[in-house]
Amino acid sequence: MSAVKKWTVFSVRAALDAKTISARELTAEFYSRIEKRNPELNAYLTLSPERAYAQADRVDAMRASGKPLPPLAGVPVAIKDVISTRGIRTTCASRMLEDYVPPFDATAVARLEDAGAVILGKTNCDEFAMGSSNENSAFGPVRNPVALDRVPGGSSGGSAAAVAAQLAVGALGTDTGGSIRQPGALCGVPAMMPTYGRVSRYGLIAFASSLDRIGPFATTVSDIAAFLAVISGRDENDSTSASVPVPGFFAEMQKPVEGMRIGIPAEYFGEGMDPEVRQKVEDGIEVLKKLGCRTVNLSMPHTDYAIATYYIVANAEASSNLARFDGVRYGLRVDGSSLREMYENTRGRGFGTEVKRRIMLGTYALSSGYYDAYYLRAQKVRSLITRDFTEAFKKADVIVTPTSPSPAFRIGERIDDPLAMYLSDIYTVTGDLAGVPAISIPCGVTSDRLPIGLQIFAPAFMEARILQLARAFEGATGDSS
Ligand code: GLN
Repeated sequence: MSAVKKWTVFSVRAALDAKTISARELTAEFYSRIEKRNPELNAYLTLSPERAYAQADRVDAMRASGKPLPPLAGVPVAIKDVISTRGIRTTCASRMLEDYVPPFDATAVARLEDAGAVILGKTNCDEFAMGSSNENSAFGPVRNPVALDRVPGGSSGGSAAAVAAQLAVGALGTDTGGSIRQPGALCGVPAMMPTYGRVSRYGLIAFASSLDRIGPFATTVSDIAAFLAVISGRDENDSTSASVPVPGFFAEMQKPVEGMRIGIPAEYFGEGMDPEVRQKVEDGIEVLKKLGCRTVNLSMPHTDYAIATYYIVANAEASSNLARFDGVRYGLRVDGSSLREMYENTRGRGFGTEVKRRIMLGTYALSSGYYDAYYLRAQKVRSLITRDFTEAFKKADVIVTPTSPSPAFRIGERIDDPLAMYLSDIYTVTGDLAGVPAISIPCGVTSDRLPIGLQIFAPAFMEARILQLARAFEGATGDSS
């Protein structure tokens, strides 16, 4: 795909230890790649060289003094632009926050930096993380580095494209309905949504609070584990972060997968799936069998209701979260001759079409007389979807499915058909609703060389089991390096 050298967390460390490169030189190398490639990809919205070089110099000073280096020392990373970065513009890819510079760092960002990572900049995404193609950005679409006329997926399209094009060694994205895993699948890189509560969301600009999660993109499963280990764990600043111990992902990941029970839910292999996706995912399951895993056929009967449920819950929460952008408290203000006109001007100009659609749908679902019929009912169905997972995990250790029903589609192909766009999320939204963790890992390409993703779910807080299987799969398919 690209001739540039592929760096990983592990090769960065080896090169720093061997003194073949300094953190400053590596940072410069990544900025020069970005300068060459970003104009066509539009993966980065803002670069932060001052902060990046200052951090690289700190790492180099540590090396010079012989101090032990932290786990991500010198590793260049990118941050989705819905995650707050102190002193670096954080736009949510919206006109509403075009000039917003947060006075603090999100906990996940602070933890990456404390672990030595170098923050190169902020990545493009769908506006307020609403979308599946990155076409809803106020600052233009991101192009898929594998095929420039195609979408990278969304909403974390810039993070996925940056990692796939090696414009960062890793990146943070967010997943509310699939926004980490689906772009990971469409760009051909591993991408993980941790358990709800595993990673602090302090500093994440909220879309749907009962669903939003932060997680990593990387080029190998081991690197996913390295990033996850750093960002996981309880944070006093986020009461929804869980006080659950963070396991040693590396040690856990080495365990053999022989005998693991792989659940195959019939509902994820029905109509509407691209035949090449089906083929590659079925081939992937054969690989898992050769590794000694057993397959178990399952039914998850409420899957059919997942899209409808998700788009009620997510939009209802979005309508409430986005009420704060009113021209008074945050972001853009467009004056008018009355208070009402000021609100209308501000929100009318600040938000794009899709965000407005979500706010209207969400407000409707929450309005008096409709609340019971829509929001309350959706919450009940959400419990049934969660129960499907609980039941499935009685029979299987993990669940394996496709990540997305189709490979990367063409830019413009679905933008005028919101329903077709929403249906792209069919295999991912269930995991968000149920709170369980999942990864998407590359499992081959189509005849047009478009990447395909295989998804692995595990019970809550069992990320280590996912990483264990994903690593074995990567080893067997030669997709690691
Ligand atoms: N595509 C889904 C949506 O548009 C998911 C977005 C996300 O996960 N942030 O809502």
